[in-house]
Amino acid sequence: MCNDLREGLGNAAVSLRDMVPEAATVIAAAGGCRCRQVRYLCRAAPVAVTLCYCRDCQSWSGGPCGNFAIIPADAMTLTGATKVFTAPCDSGRIMHREFCPSCGSPLFARTPHLLAVAVASFDDPSPFRPTMAIWMDRAPTWVLLPDDVARYPGNPPLSSGA
Ligand SMILES: [Zn+2]
Ligand SMILES: [Zn+2]
Repeated sequence: MCNDLREGLGNAAVSLRDMVPEAATVIAAAGGCRCRQVRYLCRAAPVAVTLCYCRDCQSWSGGPCGNFAIIPADAMTLTGATKVFTAPCDSGRIMHREFCPSCGSPLFARTPHLLAVAVASFDDPSPFRPTMAIWMDRAPTWVLLPDDVARYPGNPPLSSGA
């Protein structure tokens, strides 16, 4: 993880706005699961918004990729109990995936280094424009992406220390 990014994670939204303007437009956003048993408030701009095409995210999302807003873990306030499924992901790291035990909505993916919020769980997902597509070597061949989305064959530099 580069120094700029580490500093951004510590200082929340202000320093991030210069680094990732597209991803930094949302400073506070509420969300939760489909049945509303689990609700959260995210009080920081995302460091990145990812489309992850690893097989683990495909399995979890039920679609071609997982779509996550990466935020500082201490910026999340949660109400309601989640259930956690823990397993190695494609990189071999242990991933903790949290979902609503009642309706099954995917909510969060955690490693010791990051908290990834499932973008579809935000009340308004539309501002969370993807900034990077990762694990592209596992993506279906028909995937189309906007030209300005950064692409990585596996993990991005963001998580290289994980
Ligand atoms: Zn639910
Ligand atoms: Zn993934």
